[in-house]
Amino acid sequence: MARSSASTSRRTGTRNARPSPRCWPRPTTSSRSAAPGSRWSWLSCDEDRPSFERFHRTMPWPAVPFGDLQCKKRLSERFQVEGIPRLVVLAPDGEVVHADAADLVHRYGEGAFPFTAARVAELEADDERKYASQTLEKLFSIVDGRGYVNRGKEQVPISSLVGKTVGLYFSAHRCAPCIKFTAKLAAIYSNLKGKAEDFEIVYIPMDKEEDGYLQSCSDMPWLALPYDGAPSRELARYFNVQEIPTLVVVGPDGKTVTRDGRNLVNLYLDMAFPFTEEQIRLLQEMEDEDAKGYPQSLRHSGHRHDLNIVSDKSGGGPYICCECDEQGLGWAYQCIACGYEIHLRCGRNAEGGSAGTG
Ligand SMILES: [Zn+2]
Ligand SMILES: [Zn+2]
Repeated sequence: MARSSASTSRRTGTRNARPSPRCWPRPTTSSRSAAPGSRWSWLSCDEDRPSFERFHRTMPWPAVPFGDLQCKKRLSERFQVEGIPRLVVLAPDGEVVHADAADLVHRYGEGAFPFTAARVAELEADDERKYASQTLEKLFSIVDGRGYVNRGKEQVPISSLVGKTVGLYFSAHRCAPCIKFTAKLAAIYSNLKGKAEDFEIVYIPMDKEEDGYLQSCSDMPWLALPYDGAPSRELARYFNVQEIPTLVVVGPDGKTVTRDGRNLVNLYLDMAFPFTEEQIRLLQEMEDEDAKGYPQSLRHSGHRHDLNIVSDKSGGGPYICCECDEQGLGWAYQCIACGYEIHLRCGRNAEGGSAGTG
């Protein structure tokens, strides 16, 4: 007899918890010039020898031989390698110093060496100090002494943005999730501008080629950092941007309001503005109030079982709506056995949706 999938986790909805396709900027490679006394080696996960050889030519360190499956298996098991890239750092005595330093390299470059807990604490304390004294002008001077961004061919001084809510939009032209999100963000930007909100967006290009950058600029109605890889990388490192698109929001006082602007825009559209915790709490309270008008369960044409209403307090979590394919959070109609979840509004709007017992 087939086992019911109901035996899976109660929070089946979180199967969809990482909703957006990920598109990662390449890690920086400055730490390849390893510190004195350090040794690096590469364990390949390539599927064929030509790929292995091609990739190895880009690395200045030795590799476990491509055919040595025993060694590869032993190391993968010992360090419980499930995802790549993974950088395990070992002390001279073989003790693990850091189980996965890839993010540290991405974020701090060679400054992360020697990857010890003490070094990481130092770096994080530095970050906290920087964030606490952050201003918009300081942010742009970290990366670029020019003090301006572009609007088409016109130069706009950073000083003219001070006092506004500013979105820093890390994106690239050749990135499908970016293209989809840019269209949504452009609609919201235009709405907010229409309401004369003090809001600006600056495109922080993660493009590898200037052609892509120019194309992105022509698709975006907002400001852009001039094309030059280094400042973008510096800002991405400063905000620990690990995927694109990312929308970091800086408040009128120059401090970071959120690095999660992308999710907030997906969830609340222009209602998310000005992206503060207070605004998000208000929106959640409105949703709680709104949910009282919905039936406890319903039958939805897209699914064969009854769906029950859930909130984040009763088994709901982040999800992708099976009806409209957009993100959701908290309130949902859910079939827990199948991990099927839809927005409340999508349950109400969908043809064939009918109220169950209230
Ligand atoms: Zn939906
Ligand atoms: Zn079901």
